[in-house]
Amino acid sequence: MREFDYIIIGGGCAGLSLAYELEINEKLKNKTLAIIEPRTEYKKDKTWSFWKVANHNFEDCVKKSWENFTVNIAKKTNHLECVDYPYQSVDSGLFYEKINTKLKENKNISIFKNMSEINSKNSFIFNSVPSIKKDHRNLWQHFYGVEIETQNNFFDDKIFNLMDFDCDQRESVHFFYTLPYSKTSALIETTWLSKMNDDSKKDYDTQIKDYIENHLKLKNYKITYKEEGKIPLFYPAYEIEKNKINIGTAGGMTRLSTGYTFLNIQEHSKYICNNIENISKTKKFEISKKYQFLDDIFLRVLEKHPEKMPDIFFEMFKSSPKTVIKFLSNKSNFFEDSSIIFKMPKITFIKALFY
Ligand SMILES: Cc1cc2nc3c(=O)[nH]c(=O)nc-3n(C[C@H](O)[C@H](O)[C@H](O)COP(=O)(O)OP(=O)(O)OC[C@H]3O[C@@H](n4cnc5c(N)ncnc54)[C@H](O)[C@@H]3O)c2cc1C
Repeated sequence: MREFDYIIIGGGCAGLSLAYELEINEKLKNKTLAIIEPRTEYKKDKTWSFWKVANHNFEDCVKKSWENFTVNIAKKTNHLECVDYPYQSVDSGLFYEKINTKLKENKNISIFKNMSEINSKNSFIFNSVPSIKKDHRNLWQHFYGVEIETQNNFFDDKIFNLMDFDCDQRESVHFFYTLPYSKTSALIETTWLSKMNDDSKKDYDTQIKDYIENHLKLKNYKITYKEEGKIPLFYPAYEIEKNKINIGTAGGMTRLSTGYTFLNIQEHSKYICNNIENISKTKKFEISKKYQFLDDIFLRVLEKHPEKMPDIFFEMFKSSPKTVIKFLSNKSNFFEDSSIIFKMPKITFIKALFY
């Protein structure tokens, strides 16, 4: 059986981002790479959105970028600007196409469906398949989104809606998210922060229909694409192994308070690439402990007091948008952290330290 210098398990966002980073930096000229990916074809299955707080390799896969956004609770709307850190949406279909086209040029890169097809004994492994233990803290971000097209101009495509909490909360945390790609098309998502197997929230089609028709008051539209997913709001378990690094969601690249992962994956890929020659001795890359600690408290409050979360998110965005964006994208300094923390209900958060 063939042996490879490197193996990437999972050719999704993290696996392909890493392979691309290694390839464009010529780290695979004299090294071999096997990617293990069971899917039989790549097609658009996700839309990755984030504030662009750092450069990445996929500007040409950005479907749309915005410099203005809103956050809503019942009867209140906060209008915010994000000129310094525009919000971008990457189309996964374009991302897969771009990377796979590039990787095909290098004969040192091979793709397999299963690990059993190769000999991995002497390889360095990058694993993006998470092991989710059932007894782990069980909070997930569940979401279901549809892209719609309207007959007439309907959306203001200069401004997106990050969170609209003016909806049924069902003793959980629920908001809608609208990304208008043009005046006649948008992605509209219903998002729940709740337990893993919470089926009581899964009447997604009804929620979306009700929101579009009764809240946005849009009648003539057609659905052109659907996406559904869930992101663990905890770090998947892993065992430390000498020749293995976990990447992507499996590698703890998700910011637990928000679910944002895409840009962290890009930074992790660059870090691995910069250290690839000495990778088995390189320090683990992780989201700073400061954010791990703050997110843990935030999620304790969310679990205990879901009814307070719409107001908490709304208050958070009363800080300068630049500060909030930096905080949510792991780029804030001490003063920016303090200004966010100051906006939180102090007694609730202090009590959460002892739950
Ligand atoms: C629908 C959706 C939308 C999201 N939107 C955003 C967003 O807007 N912004 C953001 O920052 N984050 C977002 N995320 C979170 C995160 O960015 C994505 O989940 C991202 O795809 C994580 O990358 P990954 O490589 O860890 O996992 P994946 O992209 O899921 O890749 C894992 C790969 O492993 C393969 N695989 C599965 N089992 C095996 C196996 N046994 N052996 C080998 N391979 C296997 C899968 O086929 C897949 O290709 C979203 C997540 C989902 C699910």
